Amino acid sequence: MASSTVTLASSSEAHVDVASLKSNLQQELGALVSPNRSFENWARTFRCVPEQYYSPSTEEEIIKILHLARLSGKRVKAIGTGHSPSDLACTDGFMINTDKLNRFIRADEKELTITVEAGMKLHQLHEYLEFHEMAMSNLGSISDQSVAGLMSTATHGTGAEYPSCCAAVLDLTLITAQGEKIYCSKTEKPDIFNAAVCSLGSLGIITSMTLQCEPAFRLENKQEPAKLDQVLDNLDAIIHSAEHVRLWWYPHTDNVVVWRANRTTKPVSKPPASSWRTSSWFTFNVYQGLLYICRFVPSLIPSLSRFMFWATQSRPLERVDKSVKVFNFDCLFPQYVNEWSIPWSRTAEALRALNQFIENGVVQVENVNPEEKAVVSTVKKEKGLKVHFPIEIRFVKKDDVWLSPAYGVDSCYIGIIMYRPYGKPVPYKRFWAGYEKIMTSFGGRPHWAKAHSVTYEDLEKSYPKMKQFSEIRQQLDPKGMFLNDYLRRHLVPSSETPSN
Ligand SMILES: Cc1cc2nc3c(=O)[nH]c(=O)nc-3n(C[C@H](O)[C@H](O)[C@H](O)COP(=O)(O)OP(=O)(O)OC[C@H]3O[C@@H](n4cnc5c(N)ncnc54)[C@H](O)[C@@H]3O)c2cc1C
Repeated sequence: MASSTVTLASSSEAHVDVASLKSNLQQELGALVSPNRSFENWARTFRCVPEQYYSPSTEEEIIKILHLARLSGKRVKAIGTGHSPSDLACTDGFMINTDKLNRFIRADEKELTITVEAGMKLHQLHEYLEFHEMAMSNLGSISDQSVAGLMSTATHGTGAEYPSCCAAVLDLTLITAQGEKIYCSKTEKPDIFNAAVCSLGSLGIITSMTLQCEPAFRLENKQEPAKLDQVLDNLDAIIHSAEHVRLWWYPHTDNVVVWRANRTTKPVSKPPASSWRTSSWFTFNVYQGLLYICRFVPSLIPSLSRFMFWATQSRPLERVDKSVKVFNFDCLFPQYVNEWSIPWSRTAEALRALNQFIENGVVQVENVNPEEKAVVSTVKKEKGLKVHFPIEIRFVKKDDVWLSPAYGVDSCYIGIIMYRPYGKPVPYKRFWAGYEKIMTSFGGRPHWAKAHSVTYEDLEKSYPKMKQFSEIRQQLDPKGMFLNDYLRRHLVPSSETPSN
């Protein structure tokens, strides 16, 4: 990892007694430091050892930490819950844990908005929303993330008429590298706002956000088995067949689960009778154990996928519950994941190309360079792959957040996964490489939270507002205090060599 030491002290600070300022700040901030604390993400796939690990609970404390970082020439990274499956949240400089920045600020039941501190976890947010009879319109699979972490990576759920969560942000407060507190919204400093909503921590520390909500609602959820070809042939109708539609495809089989949810006034239904098939004991022990065996005998993976589909998904299911309980589900145990969005009109082609790649080891992609004529390039024929289920397919409406992967494009997210049974590694790199090639050829944009290999230069081609974003980043953080290795790889032109 590159050194976190950079020249960040401003010239005005150079005139005062820097050593005594630093020592005063260190003393004042001492109580917020967790000595020798390392950081590991949820999937235990990335870890780092920050030089200092701070847990502030007020904006004033954050301003002091940034002041000390400036004087000491340190880089700074905010973290929420550390759920990003990449090195996005890693640093060897100052880490700011935002767990204590979790207070409720206000709710407006008429306008259906809530303002909270940005480190609040979603499950806590849901409690405040429930109290005020409101709910988020759309959610991803879990509610462990912090509000700022969720928005900073454009986390999404599913629903043809429902954009990614970050489209619900109405205003936010940001503390910049210079310790300046900036309030911005769709109407006040709109350029900073459009850049900051999804900014991966690169513009500063977000301390509060106001979110647009809707009246609390229940969802009627129905899921049923279907066949891949039948789904792909009727995809447009299926995408619009309910307010929220997601698909789980079991690779190596033609089995798909079609998951639908619609708002309803029906009462919450009784939970289904408990059964070994749906118990968490079964998935955590039997499924994880079988995945572990597959590490040594990968040829068993297709049979395991067929068995698990039969055991858990081959019968239709129906239920009514609070929105959060239907949107969220158990994501089981640590995993490698990759996920990109493509225009949803390309979904069927992309999934067929992915199926071909998994079964034959062949990637057939159109050349992605628009200057060159589209040609079909075939990677030399290799053996097929053995990959885990599910491949998750979700749909989001386009939005206007500059760095949202759904900026200006109705998008389909295709997520791939390789579980790490009992935290053990499994091979995934060949799967990732072919998948990324396919997604690139369909105009894909990677999910920011997930590890990917796209450079700034390529991202600039696919994000119309990337240049404006970079200008704002340069303006707010000219010395790169908030850059880490991930951000240098993906948000900084390779020609710019940041000072180390
Ligand atoms: C089990 C699981 C399920 C998931 N499901 C989904 C899903 O359904 N849909 C989806 O799109 N994604 C999903 N994700 C990805 C997840 O939503 C993102 O990784 C999200 O960013 C995690 O939030 P966090 O609070 O853990 O953020 P972290 O991982 O801690 O940080 C993410 C980024 O936000 C920045 N950040 C955090 N707080 C602040 C702040 N206060 N100010 C400035 N920057 C800040 C960090 O610097 C970092 O760049 C899932 C991840 C896991 C592990």
